[in-house]
Amino acid sequence: MTRRFRVVFPVARGFYDRKITMDGVQHTTEPYTRIDHSNPQHARTVLVDWMLGNACSYACSYCPKALHDGTIRWQKTEDVLTLYHQMKSHYAQERNKLVWLQFTGGEPTMHPRIIDLLKEASALGFRVSLISNASRTVRFWHKIRDYLDSVILTYHNEFATLDHFIDVGQLLVEQMNVHINVTMHPERFERTYDEARALRAALPKATITLKPLRVGFESELYDYSDAQLRILGKGVPSSVRSDGITPRSTMQATTATGACDTLRANDFILQDINRWQGYQCNIGLESLRIKGSGEVLRAVCGVGGRIGQLGGEIALPTQAIQCTKPSCACVADILTTKAKPVTAA
Ligand code: SF4
Ligand code: SF4
Repeated sequence: MTRRFRVVFPVARGFYDRKITMDGVQHTTEPYTRIDHSNPQHARTVLVDWMLGNACSYACSYCPKALHDGTIRWQKTEDVLTLYHQMKSHYAQERNKLVWLQFTGGEPTMHPRIIDLLKEASALGFRVSLISNASRTVRFWHKIRDYLDSVILTYHNEFATLDHFIDVGQLLVEQMNVHINVTMHPERFERTYDEARALRAALPKATITLKPLRVGFESELYDYSDAQLRILGKGVPSSVRSDGITPRSTMQATTATGACDTLRANDFILQDINRWQGYQCNIGLESLRIKGSGEVLRAVCGVGGRIGQLGGEIALPTQAIQCTKPSCACVADILTTKAKPVTAA
């Protein structure tokens, strides 16, 4: 599993200065008072970030042990299915929402009952994604592909085999949205970049991101040369735009006077405008996080605290919550509806 981060080089000046991002869009000078999904369907979607356990088929050198050493047991199938039914009733039936499960690990395909978990989610009308290293056999992917709506495959070249990864990608890309992250270690940069270009050529319908690595998956970047940073910023362009369905995309940011900009999650981070303390935020209504330990939260940021435990009582949220954090760091969290309360100064 890798976390989401992408180096781009927009102009990041002062807070709410007029700015130009790399997409060439000129942005307003006023603070934004509403952040909404550009695609209204995404406001209906409850994106569930679900870590099933922390066992993995790889042990990447840059991955903290706690994310792959198997010290957290796989979650019990009956507990997972119980929460499925609670979500179906709370979100889908009572609120007309679409539940989109996104399983992570460790390597989520190693869960001993993963096929049953995917099959049942699909039968309940949920959409399902996996964040995977693609290491399982093509036969396995063949078995599960009908239960998937999209995948994020991460290419870790310390362990992955290029031909196998391409075979899995080709099997899936005809049927669903496939995004590929290529982890770019500075000491294996050239070889990995060649492999990323080979993936680009073999899988023209997939989107690909060159992922800069951060030490311990925290905020500090590995020591990249300027040339490497330029390549990371440029990426490997998609030759065919992905037309598959996705749970999230861009956000529409609106000011009090009605000026609007369309921004990606990274635009908020890199322009330092990901600050919504005091705003009402729809985490828990549009998102949920289940940690490997089974602890249930509204979102990655943890605002609102623990709302329950897998296998025990879970109080699924019925209302938005006021943000208490000075900044919003996670991409998935940023891509959630927020609004400044009318009464706030
Ligand atoms: S594949 Fe992902 S979870 Fe597994 S060791 Fe590598 S980075 Fe960690
Ligand atoms: S930190 Fe959490 S509560 Fe605050 S804006 Fe971000 S997602 Fe919402």
